[in-house]
Amino acid sequence: MDRKKMVYKFGGGSAEGDRAMKQLLGGKGANLAEMSSIGLPIPPGFTISTEVCQYYSKHKGDWPEGLEEQVQEAIHHIEDLMDLEFGDSSNPLLVSVRSGAAQSMPGMMDTVLNLGLNDKSVQGLAAKTDNERFAFDCYRRFIDMFGGVVMQVPHEEFEEAIQGLKDEKSVELDTELGVEDMKELVDRYKAVYRKSTGHMFPQNPSEQLHYAINAVFGSWDSNRAIKYRRINKITGLLGTAVNVQAMVYGNMGDDCATGVCFTRNPSDGTNELYGEFLINAQGEDVVAGIRTPRNINELKEVMSDTYHELREITHKLERHYQDMQDIEFTIQQGKLFILQTRNGKRTGKAAVKIAIDMVDEVILKKDKAVENLVQPNHLDQLLHPQLDESSVKEEEILGKGLPASPGAAVGKVVFDSETAEEMKAEGESVILVRIETSPEDVGGMSASEGILTSRGGMTSHAAVVARGWGKPCVAGCGDIIINYENQIFTNGKVTVHAGDWISIDGAQGMVINGKKEVEPPKFDDNYHTFMKWVDTFRDMDVRTNADTPEDAAKAREYGAQGIGLARTEHMFFGDERIKAMRRMIISESEEERRSALEALLPYQKQDFIEIFEAMEGLPVTVRLLDPPLHEFLPDEDEEIAALAEDLGIKEADLKRKIRLLSEFNPMLGHRGCRLGITYPEITEMQARAILEAAVEIKKQGKEVQPEIMIPLVGTSEEFIHERHVIDEIAEKVFEEAEETVEFKVGTMIEIPRAAIVADKIASEAEFFSFGTNDLTQMTFGYSRDDAGKFLELYLNEGILKHDPFQVLDEEGVGSLVRMAVEKGHSVKPDLKMGICGEHGGDPSSVAFCYSLGLNYVSCSPYRVPVARLAAAQARLRSESTASSTRGEDKKSGELVS
Ligand code: ADP
Ligand code: MG
Ligand code: MG
Repeated sequence: MDRKKMVYKFGGGSAEGDRAMKQLLGGKGANLAEMSSIGLPIPPGFTISTEVCQYYSKHKGDWPEGLEEQVQEAIHHIEDLMDLEFGDSSNPLLVSVRSGAAQSMPGMMDTVLNLGLNDKSVQGLAAKTDNERFAFDCYRRFIDMFGGVVMQVPHEEFEEAIQGLKDEKSVELDTELGVEDMKELVDRYKAVYRKSTGHMFPQNPSEQLHYAINAVFGSWDSNRAIKYRRINKITGLLGTAVNVQAMVYGNMGDDCATGVCFTRNPSDGTNELYGEFLINAQGEDVVAGIRTPRNINELKEVMSDTYHELREITHKLERHYQDMQDIEFTIQQGKLFILQTRNGKRTGKAAVKIAIDMVDEVILKKDKAVENLVQPNHLDQLLHPQLDESSVKEEEILGKGLPASPGAAVGKVVFDSETAEEMKAEGESVILVRIETSPEDVGGMSASEGILTSRGGMTSHAAVVARGWGKPCVAGCGDIIINYENQIFTNGKVTVHAGDWISIDGAQGMVINGKKEVEPPKFDDNYHTFMKWVDTFRDMDVRTNADTPEDAAKAREYGAQGIGLARTEHMFFGDERIKAMRRMIISESEEERRSALEALLPYQKQDFIEIFEAMEGLPVTVRLLDPPLHEFLPDEDEEIAALAEDLGIKEADLKRKIRLLSEFNPMLGHRGCRLGITYPEITEMQARAILEAAVEIKKQGKEVQPEIMIPLVGTSEEFIHERHVIDEIAEKVFEEAEETVEFKVGTMIEIPRAAIVADKIASEAEFFSFGTNDLTQMTFGYSRDDAGKFLELYLNEGILKHDPFQVLDEEGVGSLVRMAVEKGHSVKPDLKMGICGEHGGDPSSVAFCYSLGLNYVSCSPYRVPVARLAAAQARLRSESTASSTRGEDKKSGELVS
């Protein structure tokens, strides 16, 4: 058997790895290899693969057989290319040791620079460079970094030592320290090291390297890294790679520098170099804030040639990677070296502009721009008002909660919905602050600019309602304690009173004291151009979940191609309507019920007319009544008394009826089609309202495509029963109107049993819509409203990878969906299928729906652009995967047994 390759060399214009090998070489290593191959000036080095890290971690710190030799050989490779010798006292090779996983992870080990120095080689370096100060500066940095990173010597102890010396010498900056000072520092640092570790500073370079490599591997399992991966949901990586690379020096004098830059402005996308540099500095001095770095544009003045070289390289990198790059560089005596490149992070606005510009500049084609340059969450940013982050000071942050619904909002604090509505009516901007919200708060929530709760998760009432409306919401902000009685909330330091101004940022979950500036969402020409491109690459439709004509109109504006879910229960709220509804619910006889329903009919019909009009002939799926009737009844004594009086019955009687209607498990109780089957007159009224509305639209000469959806079907018999009621009404309506309208009758697939018998249901139904909220509840057996109590723990412990109410659980719930799709298609190959749960707006779930061949996804109006992009990307990516021979992962496997 071949000896297993664990070390990949780069430098001198070639490399053993490439950018497709990120899994194996980490992002940094893969890109160093790539840059070497395309001839960029990068110091030579090598990468120890992530598989070795996995081995190291499984074998408690042992090195796999053969690694020692491969590292040795790779060191020789660097020595040859640099014409230096590792450990040599007159001509020493120094290296940096850098971590780097497939995904960028700040939780991991910091870089060690200048490794290879000892008491002898520091003299050699000094003699060779004729720069003693520089050599000893490198040495003291090395002791500091090696001590801190590899041996956990607190960095502050080194800081104290240097500060002490600066005080003694009465200087302010490191650069003001002279040769003798540097030598003195080396001695003091060694003492710090000795005191803290109980050992002498290691003088053998090979030993230093061995320790440093182990420290990088060890950092993969550090608490910091584990926590970072958990919070950021990073899974499926083997470990970190280790990059060992020849040092280049930005600290040899004033013709040297180190810096970082983006190839374009990451905040607005302008095509200009954006970044900072420091003259005569090394490594992370730029970000460490030791001296104030200078704007990258000043480099043009101080080192004009090098600046132009840098500019040429950034152009080359952009063309090569077909993306904006975030790079790190060092200038050694006027010579430029690139030390890192990666795709740069950017705002939504910048992402769209960069995509458009790069296509204009013929850097890439439209399909690639759509596939790679804008992420769904970038669009999400554009759709909502933004806070000017630079205006927020740390001490103004009152607390952090869950980023429940994106966008920024500013308003005066109110603690109850009624006040919110009153203040709104007086033209005030308010933020509703509640421990939790309930359906009774919807009026106040709607009147508020934003919502803040101290309890509840991403799928709490506040979060779900706010997202549906596109209203900013921070949920579950445990940093604050709310006291309704005193009308205050506090974070322990600052107390905020009712009427005080606060600002919230729902994209970040941030609560800020005071009135901050908010920029409204802007749809510039770039956005419109980009979305046009998106739609040309998309073949799955995007519909919306909308219950009102306003929502429908908004969704049309955002590009919705129909309504995938119009819930009808919301239509029963409002003064007159709820009265009739309640009368219907507590009716004792069918006759009474019919008369109450008759009062509701005109309202429902008008709603449908308006929704059909707003959708201009696009399909509209209307779901028949779904929630348990109990939800429409009041639960507070006062309200019950008022209702009893209204209805002209005894309060005690009403209370008894309400008691009778209440259920132990309403979610699994008398709801959905079970209601329609027990009270067919409800189905009749709703079918009549939908079809009469449709007929009316048609009579106006306009198009209309009604689709009636029966909820909570678990057996085909249920479906047949309801369908029969609807068909009969249709016949009547069409006869009365002397006009017919084409319509479809289909069902939600949301009960696991329905998925299992989907073929039987499909032979009766004209469409399926996957109600993945209920399907998730029932498949997991989690009540969505109660899952908050354990979901967070499950996520933290890794028992669940994602909140299944946000990201469709492909393994379980997804299997049911797949089964239903296959069974449905086996009976009716053309059966139209879509999804209408919250998942319809989640990019990875959209990709899953695409892979199953669904015709559409449906999501809340504000998620429509996100879903459009996700659908286009799903298609483009599946085509890219199919057409490429996938270089990734080509060399992984079998090291760990
Ligand atoms: P991070 O992942 O935290 O960015 P890096 O491994 O990129 O850490 O190292 C941080 C910085 O250290 C680099 O930006 C660069 O300035 C410096 N550095 C790393 N390796 C070398 C090297 N071989 N020569 C000179 N400077 C280096
Ligand atoms: Mg770092
Ligand atoms: Mg870096």
